[in-house]
Amino acid sequence: MTKKIKHPETIGLHGGDYRADPATTSVAVPIYQTTSYQFKNAETAANLFGLKEFGNIYTRIMNPTCDVLEKRVAALEGGMAAVAVGSGQAASAFCVQNVAQAGDNIVSSTDLYGGTVNLFKNTLRMQGIEVRFADPTDPKNFEKLTDEKTRAYYGESCPNPYLRVFPIKEVADIGKKHGIPLIIDNTAAPVICKPLEHGAAVVMHSLTKYIAGHGTSIGGIIVDGGTFDWVKNAKRQPLFNEPDPSYNGAVWGRDVPKLTGANIPFAIRARVVLLRDLGAPLSPFNAFQIIQGLETVALRMKQHCANAEKVVKFLESQKKVKNVIYPTNHQGEIRERAKRYMNGGYGSLVGMDLGSKEAGAKFIDNLKLLYHVANIGDARSLAIHPASTTHSQLNDKQLAEAGVTPGYVRLSIGIEHPDDIIADIEQALAA
Ligand code: PLP
Repeated sequence: MTKKIKHPETIGLHGGDYRADPATTSVAVPIYQTTSYQFKNAETAANLFGLKEFGNIYTRIMNPTCDVLEKRVAALEGGMAAVAVGSGQAASAFCVQNVAQAGDNIVSSTDLYGGTVNLFKNTLRMQGIEVRFADPTDPKNFEKLTDEKTRAYYGESCPNPYLRVFPIKEVADIGKKHGIPLIIDNTAAPVICKPLEHGAAVVMHSLTKYIAGHGTSIGGIIVDGGTFDWVKNAKRQPLFNEPDPSYNGAVWGRDVPKLTGANIPFAIRARVVLLRDLGAPLSPFNAFQIIQGLETVALRMKQHCANAEKVVKFLESQKKVKNVIYPTNHQGEIRERAKRYMNGGYGSLVGMDLGSKEAGAKFIDNLKLLYHVANIGDARSLAIHPASTTHSQLNDKQLAEAGVTPGYVRLSIGIEHPDDIIADIEQALAA
């Protein structure tokens, strides 16, 4: 039954295989707060370790509470399998480390969350993985930076501060020509953007944001779309086609479909190699919290998007606001991408330029309802002034390169009544 469910409102509550807890018939997903699982007998234990059968071994690698979350998010994205991890950062790092090793490179969009930029520019480089940065306004930039060592393309569906929707199909098509999977960070647009439908091979989320939605728990997830042909692209993808010495010579691209009946080597390798060796599992307690959020994410996204559109209209009528940044406020092809790749709304992130650093900081200090935090995607409305916080070390030229003018304020519009959100913004602008 659940496999046939297509609507995100229903998937959030019923998606995946979970109906009731098999041990207790509990309808709410129980928190399986355990590290380990009693093996039935020695043979079963040996089979589990040898990947001859799948089941619970140790919570660093799998957990029944996380399993429900994984299956539901996979269903929400239209993917085949998912792996939950301890944070969105761990999800981004694993996505790259799963395809690339020292000496390899990936090509990533320049439009990225700052934490991802740091990971890509510094930490992965120190591990020998080069990240080449392509301006996504022209998808051909990805092809230009590709060579025989390029293992993946990477982008964000709706990245701030520019809020230019990523050319998903255009870059996925270039990737398909070269045997390169496209990985999309869909953190800012769950439900309203479905990257796998447009040709991405893998989707990841910081669950911390809209999916959890209540600002209580950090988490991340990687969804394997199940469509990328790892074997056909054997030369391009050595980590999926050469024997893995860390797992009795397993050849992931060939062996996983045989073992599972599904084309999910990306998910299996992330779980049994990366989670096993690098750790960073999601805790069962956080998985439970995030499941509560997932149950209503489709409903919340509708309200987030509707409220954001009202805020955009209001801001556009304000003289003190020099510029309003929103996915549909771009012109030409960039605007068309928002229309093409988003469905049911354009997200809750809104940027506005108040003209100067002082005006931006003053606006933030006068907010009474909106919270001043370095986060997005809460049910509550949030705001931050990057020039005086996250980007305060940068000069004006560097700020411009990062896409934040001195007066730029980022709003993450919540699900409160829109009149209350607008009233707070109005009084803070007046002040
Ligand atoms: N990706 C995006 C788009 C984000 O906005 C964030 C965090 O802000 C992350 C990844 C990292 O997620 P986390 O904070 O859960 O590690």
